[in-house]
Amino acid sequence: MTMKRLFGTFGVRRIVNQELTPEFASKLAAAYGTIIKGTVAVGGDPRTSTEMIKHSVIAGLLSSSCKVIDLGILPTPAVQFAVRNYYDGGVMITASHNPPKYNGLKFVDQDGIGIHNEMEEKIEDMYFNENPDRVSWNEIGEVFENHGIIDEYIENVFDRVDSDAIKKAKLKVIVDCGSGAACFTTPYLLRKLGCEVTTMNCQPDGFFPGRNPEPTSENLEELKEVVKSTNADLGIAHDGDADRTICIDENGNFVFGDKTFALVEKYMLIENGGGTIVTTVATSAAIYDIAEEYKGEVIATRVGDLLVARELKDSKGLFGGEENGGLIFPDFVYGRDAALSTAKIVEIIAKENKSLSELIEELPKYYSAKLKVECPDNLKTDVLEKIVEATCEYEVDTKDGVKILTDEGWVIIRPSGTEPIFRCFAEAENEEDANKMAEWGISLVKENLEP
Ligand code: MG
Repeated sequence: MTMKRLFGTFGVRRIVNQELTPEFASKLAAAYGTIIKGTVAVGGDPRTSTEMIKHSVIAGLLSSSCKVIDLGILPTPAVQFAVRNYYDGGVMITASHNPPKYNGLKFVDQDGIGIHNEMEEKIEDMYFNENPDRVSWNEIGEVFENHGIIDEYIENVFDRVDSDAIKKAKLKVIVDCGSGAACFTTPYLLRKLGCEVTTMNCQPDGFFPGRNPEPTSENLEELKEVVKSTNADLGIAHDGDADRTICIDENGNFVFGDKTFALVEKYMLIENGGGTIVTTVATSAAIYDIAEEYKGEVIATRVGDLLVARELKDSKGLFGGEENGGLIFPDFVYGRDAALSTAKIVEIIAKENKSLSELIEELPKYYSAKLKVECPDNLKTDVLEKIVEATCEYEVDTKDGVKILTDEGWVIIRPSGTEPIFRCFAEAENEEDANKMAEWGISLVKENLEP
């Protein structure tokens, strides 16, 4: 495997005007445009640097002969939706949940899926060898605008749920968009569905004045308070580019992403009489339990939302997701989608006529633990091999790092791609076993570090 120098798990993300300069963005976009040679949609989140980077990206694309459609400020999944339906490619300018000084570029293919490894390597190669195709004056592309995508995207989500049932339930929802791209979608969608909506941080603002764009429990204290004090049915929060949805239940409790994943999985399987569910090797056993009960079949990929999206396409899967609250509905968008996730969750609450905490309570219960341990990058492969040897008496999955399954639960030990550490993530039927499994993972790394 060649080591990529610019791309991370989904696109390129850097500090603006340090590494991510207009020149850098433009050249990278020209390389992408050289491969696409067609019509490319460009959108962005509301960061302070998005306009600057967008103009550079557009210049690069035009220089390689692409026609550009400027979609304005909108969620990543809305760009993916637009590309899949109308265009040959797309670039989303966003740093997702990262702090305001960051921005990034997400490139998608004609299906709206984040581009393949091979294409990323091709782009890097052109970048470093200074040879994107710069066309002559009479072949330079043109720019058009399309500001209709947001409405079309909302309309499409609306049509995919039982709006009458949701309207009747008269749900009271507090929405916290964190000043990100969801400001243009979720509040409008929920009002259209007949919910009583109160907004927080729903003015787009690249300074993210209300809260950090990452929807973690610590960053959502205010939302929890407001849900509780207003007797709302539900709180909804998104990350900066609105591909992830996090829920707060009616008691003001943070609902972990794997729980919403399991909940929506259950109803997708019931609604469709079964189907293929795609997730990663690091996801809860609850996903398997539900699949077994409701005629589902689970395929596990390596960690990464792009891999889940691609597998959903290849296997014609029904539904997929990750433990962090990213849910994928492949007949709509081949990527994590926050708007349809939100609509599905309010639909389930409305139709079941139960509170979110009751619905979560009905799901299979597991406990998880996360730990990390230092390990120099050059020793990671060796350590992994030794761990596999040392654990041969157990069932082991080496698709991504090493996942060890025992009677007490499972632990997955994965080398970080960006830091000199291993992450150990464990799950069991009780808290004590989960902690024990995670600590065992740490000890396996430490033991095998020694020569
Ligand atoms: Mg995101």
